[in-house]
Amino acid sequence: MPEVAGNKEKGLYDFIREKYEPEGFVVSGFSNLDNEIIVALGRKKREAICPSCHKAASVEMLRKKLIRDLDLIKKCYIEFEQAKIRCKCGYRGVEKLDFIGKHSRYTRRFEEYAANLANAMSFSDAARICGIDWKSARQMFYRARRP
Ligand SMILES: [Zn+2]
Repeated sequence: MPEVAGNKEKGLYDFIREKYEPEGFVVSGFSNLDNEIIVALGRKKREAICPSCHKAASVEMLRKKLIRDLDLIKKCYIEFEQAKIRCKCGYRGVEKLDFIGKHSRYTRRFEEYAANLANAMSFSDAARICGIDWKSARQMFYRARRP
């Protein structure tokens, strides 16, 4: 029944566009694989925001990133390009993106989710549910508690 499958895929696509589209990006497609879903994001703008002075800065290069986001039955990843910038203020490095921490391989909301689980159970149980190692669960737990 290809029609039903098609509707399901459309429903999933609508859901992904609603829930997996961080600010500044637009969902351009997704791959529904056996064990994971990979959401492809396109940049809305060429320019990038400097984390130091919070102004628009010129982009030196774009680097492709694959970041774990909240599960969608399967493990879910978002794929996008993060800009490396050179700013007039002197900052040189990666652009500011609100949905990921600097150098993190997980979205902030995934880290919050893992930290909340680790708050309610052992690190290893939280890690098993999240599909991460317990050291990462512990790290997310302590990072979330930092003021
Ligand atoms: Zn700057």
